[in-house]
Amino acid sequence: MLSREIRGCVRCPLHLGRTHAVIYRGGEHPWVVFVGEAPGRAEDLAGEPFVGRAGAKLDEGIARLGLAPTEFGIVNVLKCRPPANRFVLGAARICRPYLERQLALLRPRAVVTLGRWALRSMDPGAPPIMTAAGIPRSVGAWDIYPLLHPAAIRSHATAQRWKRDLGTLAEWLNEKRG
Ligand code: SF4
Repeated sequence: MLSREIRGCVRCPLHLGRTHAVIYRGGEHPWVVFVGEAPGRAEDLAGEPFVGRAGAKLDEGIARLGLAPTEFGIVNVLKCRPPANRFVLGAARICRPYLERQLALLRPRAVVTLGRWALRSMDPGAPPIMTAAGIPRSVGAWDIYPLLHPAAIRSHATAQRWKRDLGTLAEWLNEKRG
């Protein structure tokens, strides 16, 4: 089973610092999957993605999208917390097959990336996040909608951008809902 495999993974050095591998939170058959970057301290302790302050911001955004708990799921590119919460590209390359397998199992109709590293992990050719956010893109089998990372919303300008991009995301999801 994939979850058990990830929990026991020692493929990169990040396993040395983890309390828990952080795998998934959400419905059993979600049609929207949010892809974050890496667990932070709260997530490492709880073993669930986006349960800290950024998680509260994300949950607030998801509530505004009108998604029921069964309709969405949340994963990260990295399953183990990186030191000082700094995304580690080398580890992401090693960890990436787990994300691919999660998406292949979940088969969502829409993938929402959170932050630049999540976007780059799904689409290495994507432009910088401040250009890409709010504009849907297709990469291979996936329809992707890039958002800023909720932890990056620290100013009036980024809060306004987050709100605007969520509004466009709601319209995009309504089209996909059918
Ligand atoms: S970050 Fe990914 S590759 Fe590295 S130990 Fe954790 S699960 Fe394994």
